[in-house]
Amino acid sequence: MNLARWGVVPYITAWSSEETSPVAVVVRGGRIAYADERAEDRDGSGVLWTRIGFSPGVGVPEFKSVHFFRQREAMRRLLCQVCGTPCGKSGLWMLSQEEYESADGPWPAPVMTAHPPVCPGCVERSARLCPHLRRGYVVLRPRRVAPAGFSGMLYRPTRAGLAPSDATIAHNDPRTRWLRATQLHVQLEDYDVISLGNMIITDPRSATLRSTG
Ligand SMILES: [Zn+2]
Repeated sequence: MNLARWGVVPYITAWSSEETSPVAVVVRGGRIAYADERAEDRDGSGVLWTRIGFSPGVGVPEFKSVHFFRQREAMRRLLCQVCGTPCGKSGLWMLSQEEYESADGPWPAPVMTAHPPVCPGCVERSARLCPHLRRGYVVLRPRRVAPAGFSGMLYRPTRAGLAPSDATIAHNDPRTRWLRATQLHVQLEDYDVISLGNMIITDPRSATLRSTG
């Protein structure tokens, strides 16, 4: 993988050459499967993933689209979502105001995100490049990162065949057998708040944040 060639484009950004082609989804062994399934279509826990080409650097970057496999790899291996290098324990997590406010309880309530970590050197760049952070963000350093769930297309068997719909479900939900995943979500637990981007805290006990921008 030639990271240098990707230049200013974030590691997880999808490129125009990386196409998703239509594939036939069937039911096999009590779960959905591809008619022509290959080993690499499932992750380590057996969840089926949406197929996408892999050709970073070819074509034009699609900044609003995340590449499914690179997103998953960045989450699993804690790679910086901007430069692709392993972050380990120094990884920082940048959450938008909306994501952070969705935390179920006061600080530091566990918070769920589909945005992989960034290395300390990429924080500033990420704030500039990521559209979802423009309205304000918070930077967290968690002591624990746990698997939380998947987004993708959830298939429901009906008399007329399989009916797909967009869904996000927990990683241990039995319906993962009926999911064609596109993103991995994790839960950040026991974290320190490192900085508050352009947000200000209006009430630290209730985690109510307000954007200054
Ligand atoms: Zn980085």
